[in-house]
Amino acid sequence: MPAEPDAAGARHVLVLGGTTEARELAEALAGDPGCRVTTSLAGRVAAPVLPPGGTRIGGFGGVGGLADWITGHGVTHVVDATHPFAEQMSFHAAGAQVRTGVPLLALRRPGWTAGPGDAWTFADSLAGAAALLPALGSRAFLTTGRMGLHAFAHLTDTWFLVRSVDAPSPPVPPRLEVLLDRGPFGLEGERELLARHRIDVLVTKDSGGRATAPKLIAAREAGIPVLVVRRPPAPEGVAQAASVDAALRWLDHPRPGRT
Ligand code: NAP
Repeated sequence: MPAEPDAAGARHVLVLGGTTEARELAEALAGDPGCRVTTSLAGRVAAPVLPPGGTRIGGFGGVGGLADWITGHGVTHVVDATHPFAEQMSFHAAGAQVRTGVPLLALRRPGWTAGPGDAWTFADSLAGAAALLPALGSRAFLTTGRMGLHAFAHLTDTWFLVRSVDAPSPPVPPRLEVLLDRGPFGLEGERELLARHRIDVLVTKDSGGRATAPKLIAAREAGIPVLVVRRPPAPEGVAQAASVDAALRWLDHPRPGRT
């Protein structure tokens, strides 16, 4: 059975995090005495930017562990604000909703859309992108994150610029330069990066959102093709919100500073 608000009437929102939207949601909910918020992070990033409110770090131990955490901590609402490519966690959240009955919302930013002048090629996976890449360019700006680099490790003729928050670990492609950085990234910086490294192809996940979109504009301006990895499937039958404002409406919570 879903948990009821505690004796003081406070609700407890568990935000499955790791995204800008998760942090913005926690910021909007924190400080409200009628609502307790806990953000959960996977623990992949060595020094994460922690949101206000409570935080917990590390896996739950599958659907059962997540369901136990939800009931054991009196969670009244769960918001899955994980990255669109965090497929496993989203399915676990859906499974925990079935087990606990605690309502779940998937906060999923919309994907990007190609516009006039864009030269986008789509792949269904990182492995698919690696198969298509040699035909598109030989100096690749790889922005798909450090975790999937092994999918490109066999490409010995391609030079890679890899941008990630923490350093990648092997296996990685042999011709590689790593740029440690954390978004958001501005358009001027992206233009400069593409030119300085003579990039001739950009590889990205269809992450969506504004924080990392300027690279797409810079690629369009420079006439550089973009290899876009499509999003993995998401669980069906879960309530959806495309923005933090929509998530706040689902929680019946006013956006701070707005009427
Ligand atoms: P994943 O493959 O969906 O999840 C693998 C396992 O990591 C989950 O089964 C869960 O372990 C644990 N986990 C994932 N997110 C968690 C969270 N928010 N809190 C607690 N445990 C979590 O996820 P991933 O692709 O490795 O991504 C990990 C985190 O990085 C996510 O929080 C995501 O929002 C963030 N992120 C991912 C990407 C990406 O491209 N995948 C990009 C940017 C940020 P248990 O089964 O033990 O509970």
